[in-house]
Amino acid sequence: MEQKNRGFNVGDILRTIRNNIIKIVPENSQLFKWLSLIGLKMNAKKNHAVLTAMKMGVYAVEHCNLNCKCCTAFSPIAEKCFLDIESYKKDVVKLAELTGNNLESFYITGGEPLLHPQILEVFTIAREYFPKTDLFFMTNGLLLLKMPETFWETCKQNNVEINVSRYPIQIDIDGIKAKTKSYGIKFDYVGGSDVPVKLMWKYPLDLEGRQSLRRSYDICTQINRCITMKDGKIYPCNTIAGIEHFNKYFNKNLEVTADDVLELSKVKNVNEIYEFLHTPKPFCKYCNRKGVVFGIKYSSSKKEIEEWT
Ligand code: SF4
Ligand code: SF4
Repeated sequence: MEQKNRGFNVGDILRTIRNNIIKIVPENSQLFKWLSLIGLKMNAKKNHAVLTAMKMGVYAVEHCNLNCKCCTAFSPIAEKCFLDIESYKKDVVKLAELTGNNLESFYITGGEPLLHPQILEVFTIAREYFPKTDLFFMTNGLLLLKMPETFWETCKQNNVEINVSRYPIQIDIDGIKAKTKSYGIKFDYVGGSDVPVKLMWKYPLDLEGRQSLRRSYDICTQINRCITMKDGKIYPCNTIAGIEHFNKYFNKNLEVTADDVLELSKVKNVNEIYEFLHTPKPFCKYCNRKGVVFGIKYSSSKKEIEEWT
């Protein structure tokens, strides 16, 4: 799930333009692809500037109760995998020390994060160490209305904004909006209130690893927007963070090297994280970003390798 920018800023304006372009230019057309690649190229300099603040994401779980084709988190082929609360807390404490308890935003996502039995602890720990940071909870929404009152109270107390991905599935979105409103909890769709119903995108992997690092990185939509923290490590994108599931399920070895991840325990100051995120990673050779396929009709994953290659 892709993170969103907060507040009225250039990111919001670009997202609104994009959401409106989709209404005119079909996502599965060549024109949409050209426009997107040109836009990404033009924005590369800005998107990949050295950070001065971070949007950090954690996966509460890596599996999911939906099974979407081309899922960029590899959830349909992930084994059950829950965030370990002790390890998470250790990482949050370290990140808080490094950043002076201040991030641009913190995202709790998945997979489907509502499958985590201790999801409320995930919220409270994040809020304890990042009291002023925008805290987002990204869900497919299927389980939301089954959550007990303590869930809604905890969201309210910790000022957690709920973001629902707009898949073409049957959920009671009006009921969800009413519930969030009754608790005074902020609600939005992932991608903004005017985001169209989701079509899927495929970011093909190059199994031979023949892509130019720079070219992949320059038109990468995930860098600096899908930074992921798990098990004591910072990953620059959710592709590297989730590739273990692809490798295991399809018996491949798209190698994640020591230079693709940052060991939190070795980081002495936040600038080391910003420097790490500023450069292409060896793993970018596996990302055929130019081959991106937009506008794939939403359907269930058949768990075939072609969904990711
Ligand atoms: S809802 Fe679909 S796209 Fe989102 S994590 Fe689950 S399987 Fe993946
Ligand atoms: S490996 Fe590189 S190109 Fe691929 S998603 Fe991550 S940062 Fe982007």
